[in-house]
Amino acid sequence: MSSYQTRRDRLRRLVRAAGADALLVTNVTNVGYLTGFTGDDSYLLIGRGHTGILSDPRYTTQLQEECPGIDLAIRSPEVPQSEWVARCVKSAGIGRLGVEAQSITVALCGLLERQLPDCVMVSTTGLVEELRMVKDRREITSIRDAIRLAERAFDVIRAALRPDQTEQEVAADLEYQLRRFGAEGCSFPSIVAVGPRAALPHATPTRKRIGDGDFVLVDWGARGDRYVSDLTRIVVTGKISPKLRRVYGVVLKAQLAAIRAIKPGATCGQVDRAARSIIEKAGFGAAFGHGLGHGIGLEVHEAPGLRRRAKAVLKPGMVVTVEPGIYLPGWGGVRIEDDVLVTRSGHEVLTSVAKPLDASVVG
Ligand code: ZN
Ligand code: ZN
Repeated sequence: MSSYQTRRDRLRRLVRAAGADALLVTNVTNVGYLTGFTGDDSYLLIGRGHTGILSDPRYTTQLQEECPGIDLAIRSPEVPQSEWVARCVKSAGIGRLGVEAQSITVALCGLLERQLPDCVMVSTTGLVEELRMVKDRREITSIRDAIRLAERAFDVIRAALRPDQTEQEVAADLEYQLRRFGAEGCSFPSIVAVGPRAALPHATPTRKRIGDGDFVLVDWGARGDRYVSDLTRIVVTGKISPKLRRVYGVVLKAQLAAIRAIKPGATCGQVDRAARSIIEKAGFGAAFGHGLGHGIGLEVHEAPGLRRRAKAVLKPGMVVTVEPGIYLPGWGGVRIEDDVLVTRSGHEVLTSVAKPLDASVVG
């Protein structure tokens, strides 16, 4: 049985447990996860008696190639997708239609309610996302590949870093190198933040020059074969000030403690706590204003979220980032981010860029 079939069978059970006859999957990433389809603008209608992809003629050939064995319901171009959904749901005789609350539009919901007065809409949240949390062997291999691509590209730009380069130029170089090594591209717009700009956890690259500060924060990732990686490192381009050494030491200690806490059965909140308590004890609690990490897979931010008080329990096959940070406005920020696989016996750190501060010096 193909992995896509296995995923669809698991989903059917969740749909039934949610009290629906079928689920209309409108989130296209979820459609891809369940079918192998890599295109856009297509929905999956999945229930006990009916599984079909609702799409338009632009994708007919691609769907036949990528999703063998799945029924295709291709509308003619003059029929709007929303009308098409209503027709397909009606002809499948679905009485209770599950919808993905986090993805379906208010407009489509309203239209379905008007056109299908006998059909009950069942709002569902995170059914496919729950399946996506635990990766199979092939998905883990794809994430490993995306990490390798990101690390190779980083090695090149790190070795070529010059004081006169701007943040924007370094970000562009990074993307070019990723593509040159075979990535589809960046998994998100890279963050390259010099000195005080690193105090912004989501800084956008500017024309500020690398030589304008003593260190630069780089947060980047590759999209390989559909799956992504996500890393952050500090590169020291000037002097290591006592303050940088102190802040970096606290962040690294917190990150290593959180990684040690990762094992099956641990809650996401416990892992967050392992890092946060170290940062709080060092007096920087207020300067760590985000969650510890997040799942990665087809998307760069997916479940589970490693956040304060998060109750989700880690299971073998989950891949999460661990990225504590300390941000001090006017001075800068330090974040260290690795991708970690939950294994049967504990965890495996998938990323391998060196972390000691003295190994982060260039030039
Ligand atoms: Zn990141
Ligand atoms: Zn991240």
